[in-house]
Amino acid sequence: MFMPKRVLIEKDALKYPLGEELYNNFKNKDIELIMLETTRTKGIPGSTKMEKYKQGKNTLVIGVKKSLTFQTCKPSAHYQLPLVTGCIGQCEYCYLNTQLGDKPYTRIYVNIDEILDRAKKYINEREGEVTIFEGAATSDPLPVEPYTHALKKTIEFFAKEELGRFRFVTKFTNIEDIVNAKHNGHTTVRFSLNTDKVINTYEHRTPNAKNRIQAAAKVLNAGYPIGFIIAPVFLYDNWETEYSMLIKDLNNSLPVDNHKNITFEIISHRYTTKAKNRINDIFPETKLPMTDEERTFKYGQFGYGKYVYNKDQLSEMKTFFTNELSTYFSDSEIKYII
Ligand code: SF4
Repeated sequence: MFMPKRVLIEKDALKYPLGEELYNNFKNKDIELIMLETTRTKGIPGSTKMEKYKQGKNTLVIGVKKSLTFQTCKPSAHYQLPLVTGCIGQCEYCYLNTQLGDKPYTRIYVNIDEILDRAKKYINEREGEVTIFEGAATSDPLPVEPYTHALKKTIEFFAKEELGRFRFVTKFTNIEDIVNAKHNGHTTVRFSLNTDKVINTYEHRTPNAKNRIQAAAKVLNAGYPIGFIIAPVFLYDNWETEYSMLIKDLNNSLPVDNHKNITFEIISHRYTTKAKNRINDIFPETKLPMTDEERTFKYGQFGYGKYVYNKDQLSEMKTFFTNELSTYFSDSEIKYII
């Protein structure tokens, strides 16, 4: 279970039962507890970028979600569902590295009922159509689930919504709340997977592939639709053998008669110059393959471009995953390989 080094708690959070409960829980622990008058954080130390990053990753902020205007989340969902911001994991390539400032703390919200009430309004506004909410757009929500039970509450909320669907993605394995929730098939749980070499080299503070696969099997057995995001795919020496082993391990661990409830998304490694600079600041020893000359530059829709593998490499990767997945998971849907 994630135990922060310091907890920052907004004064207003104490007006909610969950805020009070968490305050009482943390005040008896040997950790720094800082009361905040506003939503502005303070007291997270660090003089270098690396130190600030590490201290942020060990800080939990307990707050009230004030703005209940949800961000859109195209193309995979209609809206982001803001249950948690941030993640305790320290993946070197993480997309959040450039999103959460220099002290990337994890923020949880105590007004979950208000957030879900707002979700209900969004569902009603799109009357007659299914509305999909993404719960992991700016976080991995699972590590802090033992503190809030926000995912369980959300899953059970969506179970009763005829036209509401919920989805989130995780690398973590504390799925007790998930398997015990009444879901009615309205929540899709996706697991992010990679080879052990990639996990050991780049995905610090996250569970290994075997444990993620075991967690996924339990979630599938609990009747959920599930998905696997194999990402980022790195084309290193021996990548075909190792990704092939990963898919075989998956096949051996998941019940064969349930493959139609599984989807796959495969994403090759890419980076922007902004991300590369940030990664080099906080992980100066990084071995991430980020030599611009070895990649193809692709212009992006938001005015910045990214460095991707070249056309031949991507084509080889697509053929490989299409063949492997159609061998072992012919009943599953491959959503995309990019
Ligand atoms: Fe980022 Fe996901 Fe790793 Fe957390 S687990 S640091 S959200 S890539």
